[in-house]
Amino acid sequence: MGQTLDRIDRTDLAGLARHERAVARDLELLGVPAANWPASIVDARGQPVLDVLVVGAGMNGIAAAGSLLFKGVRNIAVVERSRPGEEGPWLTYARMDTLRSPKTLTGPALCIPALTFRAWYEAKYGIAAWDALYKIHNGTWVDYLSWLQKVLALPVSHGVALEALEPAGSFIQAVLNENGARRSILTRRVVLATGRAGAGGDLWPDFIDRSLTPDLAAHTNDAIDFDALRGKSIAVLGGGASAWDNAATALERGAAHVDMYVRRPYLPQVNKGRGSAFPGFLHGWSSLPDAERWAITVYLNDIQSPVPHETVNRTMKLSGFHIHFRAGVETASRAGEKVAVKIAGQDEARLHDFLIVGTGFNVDPARIPELAHYAPGIATWGDRYQPSPDLRRRDLERFPYLGPGFELIEKTPGIEPTLGKIYLVNFGAHASHTAIASDIPGVNIAAERVAGAIATSLFCEDIDHMRRRVEAFNEPELENTPFFVPESERC
Ligand SMILES: Cc1cc2nc3c(=O)[nH]c(=O)nc-3n(C[C@H](O)[C@H](O)[C@H](O)COP(=O)(O)OP(=O)(O)OC[C@H]3O[C@@H](n4cnc5c(N)ncnc54)[C@H](O)[C@@H]3O)c2cc1C
Repeated sequence: MGQTLDRIDRTDLAGLARHERAVARDLELLGVPAANWPASIVDARGQPVLDVLVVGAGMNGIAAAGSLLFKGVRNIAVVERSRPGEEGPWLTYARMDTLRSPKTLTGPALCIPALTFRAWYEAKYGIAAWDALYKIHNGTWVDYLSWLQKVLALPVSHGVALEALEPAGSFIQAVLNENGARRSILTRRVVLATGRAGAGGDLWPDFIDRSLTPDLAAHTNDAIDFDALRGKSIAVLGGGASAWDNAATALERGAAHVDMYVRRPYLPQVNKGRGSAFPGFLHGWSSLPDAERWAITVYLNDIQSPVPHETVNRTMKLSGFHIHFRAGVETASRAGEKVAVKIAGQDEARLHDFLIVGTGFNVDPARIPELAHYAPGIATWGDRYQPSPDLRRRDLERFPYLGPGFELIEKTPGIEPTLGKIYLVNFGAHASHTAIASDIPGVNIAAERVAGAIATSLFCEDIDHMRRRVEAFNEPELENTPFFVPESERC
């Protein structure tokens, strides 16, 4: 309800227009976006080559593209497979009412106060509305991100999906699909800002019979027809935030029972992600030795994050919810028109009408369709670091081992040189760069880091052009002074 009021009734159009002028002035004062400076590169047929293709127009794609433009890397394109206003998880499978984070997050504001979520919200809805706001509604967050695309004048093409990346000489060929029509473009660099699922898709545990889908099972990240679950008995696998959001949604939409099966004896209690979202951690992490990064990643991964208390309270208000702790699911299989969920230590399987799998996301280069060509050559943490046996974690070993600017690194140097021109700014960067490419608090740091790395690498690659450009620069400083010497008389 609050969301509807925010989005429709309370908009201060004049305030927002004033604010947009303030944004334009801030950008002018800062002298951004800088003029384009990389060399103009053409392919063998004389066609212009893109400098950077950014894939994904969620917050990380927006921030990376904005930061590139600010730095004068302006020959870029952003492709986004969703329609405008439907980017990211917020209006599809993020089934909570509000963001889990506090409202005071700055958002991908690129260090410009007028671009923060708060400045936009106050301009659009007024200061009293800001004071009254508890947490940010999903739809409001999407409106803000759409607004950023607009005021930063990002070159986003919606409805365009990247299908594949392949080497093409020193360039990368990107195969794009727009409404079924395929086309290829050449680019010098690629930023994959493809979100949580972009690092390897949904995680489906092996013990679940995949033939249960679509009639008897879905992942929390799927589109689920909750109306069809009215009056039904639902099993939810997992006790994380999304599992709870789906349990609540099912009950709110009329499911008779939800049984949540959780392996742990109790829910995680402390959000260590919040405890580690301070500047030292976010800036310093990638410079730590591998052993340190690995040990802390394992610690945080083992502990897991708690469900926000709002989500727990939302669910507990509803009748029909049962949570089963120490209930490790061994198998989930078809039993006629039911799902049989077999719990470790119990003789009889429990029968449900539908199963919702809340086990999160994979990280595995081999499961990223856009990287199918490159996957075998991508170095992972398992290739680069051998932990002691007690710290071995198979799932974490599959995280790509990224360079300091988010660039992929070759497993065997020299085999696939364009691989290092692809920058993975999504959840797959977590082990190498901590949460800066996955959660909101780090988004500006990630953008600055990847855009800085790309600007540096383009500059080095274009050094001949840069030298000629400096040599050709010829604006006399001393004209109209007694010391002016015309060019023809200079020795
Ligand atoms: C349910 C849920 C709730 C969350 N809540 C919070 C929270 O409260 N606070 C917080 O800090 N973090 C939260 N996060 C984590 C994080 O902030 C979000 O995942 C956020 O969406 C990440 O932004 P992003 O730009 O990396 O990815 P997304 O927002 O997912 O954007 C990626 C975009 O890439 C596009 N894309 C993907 N592949 C292609 C392709 N091949 N071609 C073209 N386009 C493509 C997608 O359509 C998508 O729009 C949440 C995550 C989830 C899943």
